[in-house]
Amino acid sequence: MKRKILYIEDNDQNFYLVSYILGVQGHQVIRARDGREGIDLATNEGPDLILLDIQLPVMDGYATARELRRIPAVATTPIVALTSYAMAGDRERALEAGCTGYIEKPINPKTFTEQIRSYLPSGEATGGGS
Ligand code: MN
Repeated sequence: MKRKILYIEDNDQNFYLVSYILGVQGHQVIRARDGREGIDLATNEGPDLILLDIQLPVMDGYATARELRRIPAVATTPIVALTSYAMAGDRERALEAGCTGYIEKPINPKTFTEQIRSYLPSGEATGGGS
């Protein structure tokens, strides 16, 4: 089922890999390069899921998640942090900031699709009926 996924990521290589994998699954991926742009796009585009890098310019992923959760339209949207494997404290901080869950970087292309599927809301895609 095609979904709209917002990926807030400043690193081109990370973005292209994730975008490729999700594109193969038929999803539409839109990109923001920093937290501020991500907040704007989340507000205007109403994504089904938000993927959030933690190390971002302008404002970090934690601050971005906290601001996203203040937007009524995004209040229940799944936000999945992409955290560094080495940074165990990132995960707790991400959840405290309002993220729904996290996926460790570097991502594993073999399991990434299934991880994403587990976070996507069930039912119709954006614009679908109830
Ligand atoms: Mn980054």
